[in-house]
Amino acid sequence: DQSVCTPLPVLGRDVTVPLVTGGEVTYAALDYAASAPALQRVWDDVAAYAPYYGSVHRGAGYLSQLSTDLFENARATVAEFLGCRADDQLVFTRSTTDSLNLLAAALPAGCQVFVFETEHHASLLPWRDARVRYLDAPRTPGQAVETLERALADRDPDEPALVCVTGASNVTGELWPVRELAAAAHAHGARIVLDAAQLAPHHPVSVQDLDVDWVAFSGHKLYAPFGSGVLAGRADWLRAAEPYLAGGGASRKVTRRADGGVDVEWHDSAARHEAGSPNVIGAHAVASACKALTEAGFDTLVARERQLIDAVRAGLAEVPEVRVLSLFGDDAPRVGVISFVVDGWNSSHFAAALSAEYGIGVRDGLFCAHPLVRTLLGSDPQTAGECGAPEAAPGEKSLNAIRVSFGAGTPDEHVERFVNAVK
Ligand code: PMP
Repeated sequence: DQSVCTPLPVLGRDVTVPLVTGGEVTYAALDYAASAPALQRVWDDVAAYAPYYGSVHRGAGYLSQLSTDLFENARATVAEFLGCRADDQLVFTRSTTDSLNLLAAALPAGCQVFVFETEHHASLLPWRDARVRYLDAPRTPGQAVETLERALADRDPDEPALVCVTGASNVTGELWPVRELAAAAHAHGARIVLDAAQLAPHHPVSVQDLDVDWVAFSGHKLYAPFGSGVLAGRADWLRAAEPYLAGGGASRKVTRRADGGVDVEWHDSAARHEAGSPNVIGAHAVASACKALTEAGFDTLVARERQLIDAVRAGLAEVPEVRVLSLFGDDAPRVGVISFVVDGWNSSHFAAALSAEYGIGVRDGLFCAHPLVRTLLGSDPQTAGECGAPEAAPGEKSLNAIRVSFGAGTPDEHVERFVNAVK
């Protein structure tokens, strides 16, 4: 039913790009998984506020008070969007990468971290200074839970532990069994952080419903501009940790000691990890995006996205040379993120041709998830592609893949143009 929902207005819908074949065409942004276009409504909200901004938590003037209110209201709006518990903390960060690095810096002493090798590098790499155990790629959601259960059963139960898992893969778009993984983690006395960078733009994410301890996401994938992200969840580890950045705003009292040194008392609130002048426009933009998605209604957005996913998958299935990459199989629930390779084609050339000949923007590469993409392509880690390295020659086995991704702002025409171009 096409009346399910019309695409939400986003920036850049009328941008035209030149084609190598001559003429120009409106740009089809099909790389939402990297950065989604900002909602027009978010942009308007930011523009409406921009003349009034002043420093946050620092100034006595009217505009400083206004900005402080706006920043703290944004925090409350996003916490509500995420279904946070009353005593959770919500820290504004720069991005998901920043949020997970913050949590990694706040791990209690001796903490063990459990993470699947299939994660995005932002979830895979920040823990390398801790005792981290990388888990093999599961082939079903059930296997993911079993693998985690087995790994946790082996651990020393007296030591703190953290599981880090994605909600939706940035490569396959497949949903991970977050609720079950959270239950497994908690049954073994571990905590869990959800990387919702790809999930939050497509599905409602509730910390309480999923029973996760923390959630992280990025504004620029959730229809807000770049530069703002969120880490929300349990306050205790965050409060006990050294501030992520040392500086003004994080410190409650700083005194000079008799021996010439300096003593600091840090804030216990989220401000502890928000030193420096915060990104009030970014926080405002994220809150505005959360409101816009809530008002549009996730039931409606999910139903519309399902139509687009079905159209892309049906179109790709008609091309025998196309192989869609999947960990959990064809029937797995997924968001609008689909990666594939085309027999006889170099993925980078293919993506470049979609751009140059059809005005379609997709992504090619290993999508900052090298171990997962290599597993899916069956490529040898020693010879497989790396960021910036040349792709396989035409006719050779692909070392990279092509990714098409879309969401709330995608019109049918973009998906139709993509399917026809691939054909
Ligand atoms: N996790 C996942 C699943 C992602 O897809 C991404 C971005 N591609 C990130 C984390 C990192 O997000 P950011 O680049 O905004 O920090």
